[in-house]
Amino acid sequence: MLLSPFTRCGLVKRKTRSCGQGLFTLFPIPKGELILTLQGEILTTDQLQEHHRALQVGESTWLASSGENLDDYINHSCEPNAGFVTGELSLFALREIAEGEEITWDYSTSMNETGWQMACLCGSKQCRKIIRPWKELSPQDRNRLFGISLSYLRNSCMIPDQRFPS
Ligand SMILES: [Zn+2]
Repeated sequence: MLLSPFTRCGLVKRKTRSCGQGLFTLFPIPKGELILTLQGEILTTDQLQEHHRALQVGESTWLASSGENLDDYINHSCEPNAGFVTGELSLFALREIAEGEEITWDYSTSMNETGWQMACLCGSKQCRKIIRPWKELSPQDRNRLFGISLSYLRNSCMIPDQRFPS
């Protein structure tokens, strides 16, 4: 499941104005380019420990690390500049990202745990104020985010197969 590691040159951790540390790029990144593959260990829910930073990658599986990877520092935005375009654990630039800009992705495109939520201060026009799991998003938000979500989420909301009408 884990892809071979790839990390663009020029990605650095820096302090953000309101969200602790974040990941920034020292160089412009053209639209569509791979930024990085997320790194960590795949664990089941009952294997997770307190010190882990965990990103949900399946109904009961998580990508866990102890905070040593650059991707652990990427903050959420409701209008992100990076997303899981292929459905796998790789972030691609959704638009041209400028030199010095912070890299962000939308946490709801990975999280699906009932009741999970986080306050959002991203300040974008699309800001949902509270970040919720995929299954608790409005159908409009799910549609908008479908193409940048992890594949297990895309499969969880498939419409009934139209090829076999009953
Ligand atoms: Zn927001």
